[in-house]
This record gives sequence, structure tokens and C-alpha cells, in this order.
Amino acid sequence: MSTHTSSAGGAEGTLFIVAAPSGAGKSTLVNALLEREPSISLSISHTTRPPRPGEQYGRHYYFVERVEFEREVGEGIFLEHAEVHGNFYGTSRKTVQDLLQQGRDVLLEIDWQGAAQIRKAKPDVVSVFILPPSRAELERRLRGRGSDSAEVIERRLRNSRGEIAHAHEFDYIIVNDLFEDALDSLQAIVRAVRQRSALQCQRHESLIHELLTET
Ligand code: 5GP
Repeated sequence: MSTHTSSAGGAEGTLFIVAAPSGAGKSTLVNALLEREPSISLSISHTTRPPRPGEQYGRHYYFVERVEFEREVGEGIFLEHAEVHGNFYGTSRKTVQDLLQQGRDVLLEIDWQGAAQIRKAKPDVVSVFILPPSRAELERRLRGRGSDSAEVIERRLRNSRGEIAHAHEFDYIIVNDLFEDALDSLQAIVRAVRQRSALQCQRHESLIHELLTET
């Protein structure tokens, strides 16, 4: 007798994007989501931004020089890339595609420009935008981080309106007021997406076939 558990059954993984203005608490939310849902792989981006204290190459980002980044753009290695707050960031096409093909769900923490590029290349991407509960709170969180210079913080605050103006392009919006509530909402989105019938019909093809078969 077969048991029909939720094996991947050859189905591709789902691509998720989480975007937010700097200081909305996106990375903390994403890290907590990954603890709850360890089967999601976080894509590690390439960036020309210098590392913050404690950030590690290959864990937080692949930190590269500008010339190397430009060479990689020329080689077409990026699924998307963009200039954000004066630095360049890009997502490796091969890493993402390999993981998706293995049936892994992949999460990209990228800005609205990258999200727009991905939507064109992969219209079935699921995108989530995180909003802070107020401008005052956004500012408080950005200043409280303590790892950026005053100049960098001012620049990110100025740029936040440009990012938030694109919130409506995303499939879901979460206001990160109470952290646990926001985390529950993010996890609920992931779980609902995983139950979509197009995916489930692929995953449980043999179960559905068996249930339909007259004995
Ligand atoms: P941070 O410097 O604070 O780590 O990131 C700054 C911004 O760049 C954030 O909005 C972040 O989501 C975005 N970002 C990080 N990696 C990528 C990437 O690979 N592509 C794009 N388009 N944006 C990215």
C-alpha cells in the first residue's frame, strides 16, 4: 500500500520575493521565517556594498568589487540586478534555477526593481512587501541598527518613499508592527501558496489517480 506523503514528486519549487524599505525589519522577519520553514532556501546575493560588522562572505552576501560585478553582469550570470542606495546587487541565475529544479522553495530578499525584473522572467513568482507601521518607527529602527553611518541612514530614509511607492505591485503586503503577527502572516502566505492546486496536483498525481480509480 502506498502512503502518498507530500513528496516533491518532481514539481519545481516556488520562488518567493520579500521586499521592503530599509529598516522595516525585513531581514529579521525572513530569518525567523527560515527557522520555522527550513525547507526554504535563501538566495545569497552578490553586492558591491562593503560588509557591515559581523557580515560574512557567502553567508550574508558575496561581496565583490565593482569591476567584478560589471564583468558578471556582462556574462549574464544574474537573474536580476539593480543599483540600490548607491551599491549594486544581483541574484545568481544558476543558483536559483538549480534549487527550484530540485524542488526547493527559494526566497529572494531584493528591492522593487529586482522584483519587477523577476516578474517579467518568472510570472509565477510570489511577492511580498513589508511596510513599517509608521514613518517615525521606520526612522527609529534604521537609526537603532547601529551598523550604518549617519550619511547611509539619511540616504536610506530618503530612498524609502521610492521603494514604498511600489508596494502595490506586490501580491501581498504585511505591516510589520507586532513582529510575531507579521511573522505569522508571512508564514501563512508561504503555507497557502504551497497548497495551491496547480502544485498539489503535480505533487499528488498518483494519490489523485488512485482516488479516482474505481476498484
Ligand atoms: P542591504 O544593503 O541593507 O543589505 O540591502 C539594501 C537593499 O538591497 C535592500 O532593499 C535589499 O533587499 C536589496 N537587495 C539585496 N540583494 C539584492 C539583489 O540581489 N537584488 C536586488 N535588486 N536588490 C537586492
